[in-house]
Parts: sequence; C-alpha cells; structure tokens
Amino acid sequence: MVNTVLIANRGEIALRVLRACRQLGLKTVAIYSEADQDKNYVALADQAVCIGPAGAARSYLDQRALIAAARATGADAIHPGYGFLSENAEFAQRVIDAGIQFIGPRPEAIRTMGDKIRAKQAMLAAGVPCVPGWSQELPESTAELQAIARQVGYPVIVKAAGGGGGRGMRVVTDEAEIADTVALTREEARQAFGNPALYLEKYLSRPRHIEIQVLADTHGNATWVGARDCSVQRRHQKVLEEAPPPGVSAQALAELGARCVKACQDIGYLGAGTFEFLYEDGIFAFIEMNTRIQVEHPVTEMTWGIDLVAAQLRIAQGERLETIVGDGTGHAIEARVNAEDPATGRPSPGKITAWRAPGGSGVRVDTHIEAGTMVPPYYDSLIAKVIGFGRTRQEALVRLRCALAEMRVEGVRTNLPLLLRILDDEPFREGEVDIHYFETRFGAKEAQHAE
Ligand code: ADP
Repeated sequence: MVNTVLIANRGEIALRVLRACRQLGLKTVAIYSEADQDKNYVALADQAVCIGPAGAARSYLDQRALIAAARATGADAIHPGYGFLSENAEFAQRVIDAGIQFIGPRPEAIRTMGDKIRAKQAMLAAGVPCVPGWSQELPESTAELQAIARQVGYPVIVKAAGGGGGRGMRVVTDEAEIADTVALTREEARQAFGNPALYLEKYLSRPRHIEIQVLADTHGNATWVGARDCSVQRRHQKVLEEAPPPGVSAQALAELGARCVKACQDIGYLGAGTFEFLYEDGIFAFIEMNTRIQVEHPVTEMTWGIDLVAAQLRIAQGERLETIVGDGTGHAIEARVNAEDPATGRPSPGKITAWRAPGGSGVRVDTHIEAGTMVPPYYDSLIAKVIGFGRTRQEALVRLRCALAEMRVEGVRTNLPLLLRILDDEPFREGEVDIHYFETRFGAKEAQHAE
C-alpha cells in the first residue's frame, strides 16, 4: 500500500500530482530546488524538502538526493511527473532497490521504449505499423549509409535512438549530405543523450501527429483511453493538443487502440503510457512511446471522464482497470502557455507581477503560477495549460478562445498572442492541420526574429 508520495518534479505537474494524491487521501512530499522555494505546491504539500541548487543536474536530476529525501520523509512511493527522471530506467530501478514504489512502468519496459530503435523493433514484432525506414543502428560507412537512404527514399530523417523533446533529429534531402549529417547528429547524440546510436526513417511530407493513451494494471489488463492530435508544433514541440483527433474515424482509432493494447501486453507494460504515431493518407505509423504521463493528458481526461494521474496512483496500489476507466465523449483542446517571446519562441523568465487566470463553463486551467511567482530561467518555460472543452469541437474552440483572451500575465512575455492567432486561423479552425502547419503559417516571421 502507498501512504506518502514524493513528487519528484516541479511546476504545474507537481501541483497536478499533489492534488490527485490529496483526492485519494495520500500524503505528499514536495521537493524543490533553491530557485523554486516560492512555489505554491511547496507550501501545500504535507512535507517539503529542498534538494539542491537551481541547476537541474544538482537538484531535480540528482537521483541520490531524491531517494534520500524519500527516506528522510518516510515516503513509500515516488511519482516522477514528466521530463526530468520520468523516463530514466536506472532511476526507476534505484527507487525500487530502495524499497520505494516507482509510479510508472517497470524499469525493463522504460529501458526498451526509451531506446527508439528497440522500441520500433518491439512494435514491429507486436504488429504495430511503423514509419518505414532503417530500424537498426546506422553503420559508419558512407557507402552503406547511401545505400540505406536510397533504399528508404529521400527525404529521410536521421534520428537518435536516445533522443527526446524534439532534439536529435535531422532531415536529409540529398545523397551528398547523408554522411556529414549522420556524423554531426551522432556526435550531438553522444553528447546530449550519452548514446550515439542513430536510425533513419522516411521523412513524411505532411503527416499529422496522433497519439493513443494507454493504461495497464498489475493484473495483466490493458486498455486504451482515447486519442489526441498534437500536430500544432513549433520546432517539434507541441503547442496545442486536442481530443479526439478531428476528422479521423472512430473505427480507425479503435483499431489502432486495440493494437496498442496488444503491444502493452506483449511488452509487459504497467501504468500510463502514450504511443505516438504519424498519420498520413489514412495510414498510422508508430514513431515512439512515452512511458510516463504526458503534458497534454488533460484533453483525454476532459473527454474520457478519467483522472489519469489518479489512475497511475491507483494502478500502483493494485487496483484493477475496470474500476478506473471512463468513457469517451465531447471535445477538448489544450493550449500551452509559455513564458516566452511570442515572435522568437525564446524563453522569457522573470517574476510574474500580475496574474489573471481564466475560468468559466468548460474551462480548465492547470498552473502553479500566482502573482509574485518566479519563473526561473533554468527549466522549461511552461507556465499554464488552458483547456477548453465542450460537446463539440466548435464549442471547445470558443471556450478556449474566450479563456485565453481573458488571461493577463505581467512581468514576463508569453505566447498568448500567438495562441490567439492560431485559434483565429482558418486552417486550424477547420481542423486536420499537419505537423508543418505552424512553420508554414507563422514560421517566416519566426525566422526573421531568430536572426
Ligand atoms: P521526440 O522524442 O524528440 O519527441 P519523435 O520521434 O516523437 O521525437 O518526433 C517528434 C516530432 O518530429 C514528430 O511529432 C514529428 O513532428 C516530427 N517527426 C518525427 N519523425 C518524423 C518523420 N519520419 N517524418 C516527419 N516528421 C517526423
């Protein structure tokens, strides 16, 4: 049984996890770096521990400090949130070895899915359709690389097996560039992810990003709880997400969902997870799996009548899926509000001097920010997630539009003007935009400002 959960994260997700714990009657331990002592979840938690200085390497990524904090506070479980150590198999194993429950899948599953080459191989074996390409480690020899890329067909995308967060990927359109691009990406991957292994995929020209949310319990049951469309991306980072994906047949999603469920059973998956796909010309192709809660989980919650974070905690306590899952209805759209320059996308840290959060019917706001909160420069710049939901996409859109227009943030710059422009933009309003939509519609200005 779990009594006390240490939340090994910060920002909105720390508060989100804290609330789920509280609703389930669980005690909470917040951890924070010296740059985050002012945060509301630190004050709200039953216990709070400063685990180090501002830099993430010496605080939120310090495995030893986190486990020591759990021991000192009597926490019997650790929820990793997203980012930081959430997909680190070594951390999950260390937590388990310390006699503490890790809220997430078993370390072996994290390890397999964290290596994108192994993940693709596992999915191919489970009968999940994948993006065509070279799903093994790329060789060094130029001649071999050229032969592989020619066989896959240009343009191709070179990807790091250990990559994440939209980094470690490069598109190659011409045979003359393949060897240099592979060498460059390999060096970057070695430095950024500690893993130089690369693979290669066909670069799809106008796919949508569609993902399936799954849950699996300790009794061998797995299920899928809806799909999300995350095609609006800036430099491979999601900006707006929605559920369900507009214009995709419920039957096609159900078939894909069933394949994901089977894959969960094949790999012995446990907890919440997301299978990510590219979708083009009616075909789904797997790109990767995330073995944690996603930033965009609220759109599933609002349309599926489920609390996914509570589900993670309940699964960890041995509850069966049938008592947890809900049922899909309605539409939800999430906007990520970032402290950043709307023109360039560069972070804009600082102190929030004034804050007006939106509200009203069909509006959900997930945020840890209040007037006076510091947005430190050391971490990601997400300050709030605003979700509009309703019976139809149109209703969700209107509610989100009104909510974002009502919001006021002073002290830092935000992407609110940009989000409003997207919501007013005809192609987005009509739905079914692809992953290049953002750069095509708003990218020219962005390049200008990036000088
Ligand atoms: P990460 O783990 O860094 O998020 P993903 O493999 O999930 O990397 O890819 C992130 C994004 O990059 C996708 O949502 C898509 O926009 C783009 N992308 C990845 N693979 C391809 C591909 N084969 N063709 C076109 N775009 C791709």
